[in-house]
Amino acid sequence: MVDAKAIKDRVSKKISTTKSKISAHVSAHKHCRICGVNIDHKLEVRVCKDPDCIEKLEKTERNDKVMRIMFFVFVLIFFGPLLLSSVGLLG
Ligand SMILES: [Zn+2]
Repeated sequence: MVDAKAIKDRVSKKISTTKSKISAHVSAHKHCRICGVNIDHKLEVRVCKDPDCIEKLEKTERNDKVMRIMFFVFVLIFFGPLLLSSVGLLG
C-alpha cells in the first residue's frame, strides 16, 4: 500500500525547496565577472568599481566582438559560394 499522503508531503516539500531556490537565485546579488566580489544588483554593470576589472571586462568584450566578426567572416566564406551556386551564379 502506497502512502499517498507521505508522497504528497515529500513532493510539496520538494516543490517549496525548488521555489525557494529559484527565488533565492532571482533575488541574489550580482558578482563581479572578473574578481567575483559582490556588487549592487541594481547597477547595470557586470564588474565592480575596480579599474583592473573594468579594463579586463573591456578587453573581454573587445575579444568577443572580434570573435563575432571572425565567425561572421568564416560563415560568409564558407556559405557564400554555396549561396551563390544555389542561385546559379557559379558553375
Ligand atoms: Zn572586480
